[in-house]
This record gives sequence, structure tokens and C-alpha cells, in this order.
Amino acid sequence: MGGMILISPGLGIKLQDEFSEAELIGKGKPELFGDGFRLREEARLQFNLMKKAGKEQGFNLFVISSYRSYQHQNGIWERKYKQYRATGLSHQQTIEKIIEYSTIPGTSRHHWGTDLDIIDSTKGIPSNPLSEVHFNEGGRMRKFKLWLDENAEKFGFYLVYTKAAGRKGFVYEPWHFSYRPLSIKMLEAYKKLDIKNILQSNKLMGSEHFTDEFIEKYTNENILDINPSLLY
Ligand SMILES: [Zn+2]
Repeated sequence: MGGMILISPGLGIKLQDEFSEAELIGKGKPELFGDGFRLREEARLQFNLMKKAGKEQGFNLFVISSYRSYQHQNGIWERKYKQYRATGLSHQQTIEKIIEYSTIPGTSRHHWGTDLDIIDSTKGIPSNPLSEVHFNEGGRMRKFKLWLDENAEKFGFYLVYTKAAGRKGFVYEPWHFSYRPLSIKMLEAYKKLDIKNILQSNKLMGSEHFTDEFIEKYTNENILDINPSLLY
């Protein structure tokens, strides 16, 4: 006989990356867990443990936002874009205003299923729950914030947009936490993507105003100027 080629599974096939580009930019179908709000399984299980620990101290951890798809983020982007343009802001001013708090679709850490916005709903849910004032000295969630500072990292949850002096990009968000054991690997993979190409080819509202300089600044400040514990 001779000449027969034995094909062994896996050989010659490029090993798949751990995270696909689609799931890193919110266009994938990650396996998510949980009722009410969804996260990747390990993050969700760790959140449940943190919630239980908080409960024992009299806090009720309530999640305002967790996984968001590209489509969802694009809805937020377009709503704010139209809203700010209607007040007379230029395209550049509109973009700068949106990215004080909101991400450009395709660049949100909420796309990863590892990040979430948490408040304490013990005293009810205020109409503007994601507002720094609640977490500051004298605020209704001050004690909760101090508890989070002491305990969240024990469960793997790290603050992303800290109050560190000189930090650029998104403003301080005392509510936004990331499940580090997973998100650190996702950021590693995300950094290998061609962000410029992704943003310029997505044709989202206003993307014709994304200059090369803008994208470089956005990448260095909004995506990468975060809590250093989440970088490596
Ligand atoms: Zn958030």
C-alpha cells in the first residue's frame, strides 16, 4: 500500500486563541450564567460568594449592569450621540462628552462578561444609582464603599476606573468592578487586536471623526489607563 497519510486530530490545525475577536468586541456568543444579570460562570459564582459575605454585613449587593453586547452598547452610543448633537455640540465635542463615562461600541469591558456595576440597594435604588456622590463621604453608600475597598479583591473583583491622581481616560467609577482572573487574560488578548481597524471599519455613528490620533489616545487612556492591578 504505502503513501497513506494518517491524519491525527489537531495536528496542522492552528490552535484556536482562548478568546475570539468576536467575543472580545461584544459580537460573540459567550456562555453566560445567572438570572437577572449575566456573567461568565466563574465570575458569577464568585459574585454570589461576595454577595453572601456582604449580606452578612447588612449590605444588599445589587447589579445595575453586567454583560452588554456590541448591539446594546451601540444603542447607548447612538442615543447619547443624538442627544449631545441636539444640544449644539460638534461631532468632536459629542464624542469627547460621551467617552467621559461611556465606551465606543467594541471597546467596552462590559462585552467580556467579567465586569459589572455594583451598588448597595439596602436603602432602595436611587434614580441615579451610578453617581459618585453616593459613594463619597456622607453618601448613602459610603459604608458599603468602604466594605468593598476591604473585601472585593478577596473575591477577585477589582475597581477598574480608580481615583488615582493623574489617571486619564474614563472618570472615577466607584461602582465598576472587574473579575480579574478572567479579565486580565481577556485584556491580554484584546491588546493584540487591531483596534484602529476595528473602530474605523465598524461604521458606527460618528466613526468618520475618529482620527488616528484620537484612536491612539483613546486606546492609551480609556482602554489602558486603568487600575494597574488589572494590567498584568
Ligand atoms: Zn460599568
